[in-house]
Amino acid sequence: MDPRVFAEILSELERRYRPNRPEHVGSRDPFKVLIGAMLSHRTRDEQTDEAYLRLFKRFKDAGELASAPVREIERLIRPAGFYRVKARRIKEVSRIILERYGGRVPRNRDALLSLPGVGEKTADIVLSVAFGLPEIAVDTHVETIAKRLGIADEKDGYGEVKRKLEELTPVEKRRYLNMLLVRFGREICRSPRPRCEVCPFTRYCRYYSATRRASR
Ligand code: SF4
Repeated sequence: MDPRVFAEILSELERRYRPNRPEHVGSRDPFKVLIGAMLSHRTRDEQTDEAYLRLFKRFKDAGELASAPVREIERLIRPAGFYRVKARRIKEVSRIILERYGGRVPRNRDALLSLPGVGEKTADIVLSVAFGLPEIAVDTHVETIAKRLGIADEKDGYGEVKRKLEELTPVEKRRYLNMLLVRFGREICRSPRPRCEVCPFTRYCRYYSATRRASR
């Protein structure tokens, strides 16, 4: 994609969405951001927010969660999908953070990736949201939009989509690109059934021109 076109898209997304974040990515506390990202896996934002708020109303940090009964964590995060697996992982991650890192989430990709249940997306969310580093977290919204717009190819995996977005996004904007695209994906470029009829980017969109050609 032409960098000037991407700059226009970015500027429109900033105009629409910049101030708003869901609860579970609204904190600057790295531990809360990490647990919020773990809770959000395969779960809608509303349910993630509910589980997140219930959990942190009862427990405030890694020290408390490391010694919490797993059954109680399960009960609190029940609104999130896969809550039994997530409860065990949250307790284990809390214990590791407490014992290995003195209760502080590491500001380092490899250390984050070594935690159970933490993949590239979660690590990038923590690094960008909690530590303000210029990382782009590629979740399903980001991947779908990047591929539909023609920024990335269909076969591209996490690293390739991220690299292609990084090439187009100014360093100082990378840390919040995920949030902009998630909002756009939830509201307009939905998967499935994108609302192309109200989208301001139809003239740039590979998916839109391909589907229009196919329907002629
Ligand atoms: S035109 Fe449709 S597919 Fe393309 S970005 Fe907009 S909503 Fe998504």
